[in-house]
Amino acid sequence: MASGYKRVLLKVSGEALAGDLSFGIEPSFLQGVASQIADVARTGIQVAIVVGGGNIFRGMAGAADGTDRVTADTMGMLGTMINALALSNAISRQGVKSKPFSAATMPSVADTFTARDAKLALEEGFVVVLGGGTGNPFFTTDTAATLRAIELECDVVLKGTKVDGVYSDDPKKNPDAVRYDQISFDDVISQNLKVMDTAAFALARDSRMPIIVYSLDDDAGLSGILEGRGASTLVGD
Ligand code: UDP
Repeated sequence: MASGYKRVLLKVSGEALAGDLSFGIEPSFLQGVASQIADVARTGIQVAIVVGGGNIFRGMAGAADGTDRVTADTMGMLGTMINALALSNAISRQGVKSKPFSAATMPSVADTFTARDAKLALEEGFVVVLGGGTGNPFFTTDTAATLRAIELECDVVLKGTKVDGVYSDDPKKNPDAVRYDQISFDDVISQNLKVMDTAAFALARDSRMPIIVYSLDDDAGLSGILEGRGASTLVGD
C-alpha cells in the first residue's frame, strides 16, 4: 500500500539506539532502526533523519554537574554526531545509500548541513542523517527535527517514542486515558498534552508541519506506520 508521502523526516532519539543499555549504542538496536529506515527508503520515499544524543550526553545533566551550559550543550551536540555517523553507516550496510551531515563545521568528519545540499542528496536517493542538532545550545533535537523538516520541505515529522501516540492523559498513571488517532495543534495546547518540547511544538504549529507520534516497538514498523497501519497519532491542523 502506498503511503502518499514523498519526503519524511524521522526523529531517532538516542534512547532508540541504546536499547537496554544506559549509555552508548547497542549494535542490534542500531541495525534494527537502520533496517526499518532502509525498508522505507526502498519504497521510494525520501528519508531525512535527525538523531538525538541522550544515550551519550545531555547538556542539562552536564550543566547540573557544574559544566557551563553552552559547553555542556556543545558536548551534547557532539554526541549526536557520533550517533549520526553510526546510523548512517548502519543504513549503508543495509544496501541503501546514506550520507551524514553536521550542523557544526567539521570537514574531515561530515559535510556541513545546508538545506540545499541535503535536498540534493535526498533527490539523489540518499538517506540523509543530520547530526549536531540545530547547531545551537539551549535547543533540543526535537526542535532540530521540526526545523529541518520545514527547511527540507518534508511532508511530515515522525516522532518515535515509548508510547504509541498522544493520549488524553498519562496512560501509565490513568487506565482510562484514550489515544487520539488524530488531534489538532490547538487541542494539544489547550489540553496541555505533551508531544514535543515547547519550542519544537511551537515551530511545528506555526509552519503547519504535521507530526506522527508512534511507538518505536510497533510491529508495523516505520513503513507500516507511514501506510496507516499500527497505532499512532497524527497531530495537524
Ligand atoms: N543539543 C543542543 N542543541 C540542539 C540539539 C541538541 O544543544 O539543537 C544538545 C543538548 O545538550 C541535548 C543533547 O544535545 O541534551 C542531546 O540531544 P537530545 O537531548 O535532544 O537527544 P535525545 O533526547 O533525542 O536523545
